[in-house]
Amino acid sequence: MNSRQRLRIALAKGRLYQPAVACFGRAGVRLDPDPGRRLLIPSSDPAIDFLVVKPADVAVYVESGAADLGVTGTDILRESGADVLEPLELGFGICRLVVASPAEDSWPQRPGGQTARVATKYPRLAWGHFARAGRPVEIVTVNGSVEVAPLLGLAHWIVDLVDTGNTLKANGLVERETILTIGAVLVANRASQKLKLDQHLALMRRLESAESAAPKEG
Ligand code: AMP
Repeated sequence: MNSRQRLRIALAKGRLYQPAVACFGRAGVRLDPDPGRRLLIPSSDPAIDFLVVKPADVAVYVESGAADLGVTGTDILRESGADVLEPLELGFGICRLVVASPAEDSWPQRPGGQTARVATKYPRLAWGHFARAGRPVEIVTVNGSVEVAPLLGLAHWIVDLVDTGNTLKANGLVERETILTIGAVLVANRASQKLKLDQHLALMRRLESAESAAPKEG
């Protein structure tokens, strides 16, 4: 099969990997649920293979055309601003991007009208949220363990993903505002969707019918 007909799909390592493998499995495209150190993985469909990359890189590979399609969370996708198509919501990885602050805070006031410092992995989305609300803040970008920032005095508030709310609670934080509902989506390279339209449509039909039969999360 020549490369014009093949589809390469980028999957994110980590939290979305297993649900993505299960989702493709329901659509009849089976791949190894444990990729180990391999970056390129064949599937049960000779016309489809998978590329396993860091979550933030899925949109980069798809936007550039190195992958035809990808599965990523809308948190990382919106933060990246990548120019890709989003043909399908996949119904897993559902959570929300929120503003949280310590339970004892007199939210949203700061003592003496001081500007709030906000720690987040999502500086662009956080900026957009506070700018739309007309509230000046200072953003501190961190790569992880965001919930500990107020405890350590690094920031007053945080912007982060929440699923059950247990991590916020364990760190004495309260959810104050929801910025976005997040979920896994199928993303597609614009040129690839034009050049390989039939393959894209066939895969989407398989995923859609598999997802309508799947139990819904949450
Ligand atoms: P929880 O304690 O269930 O509210 O989960 C919150 C923690 O899990 C935070 O550290 C989040 O960054 C992370 N988290 C929750 N849902 C997701 C998701 N869908 N994708 C990536 N990280 C998530």
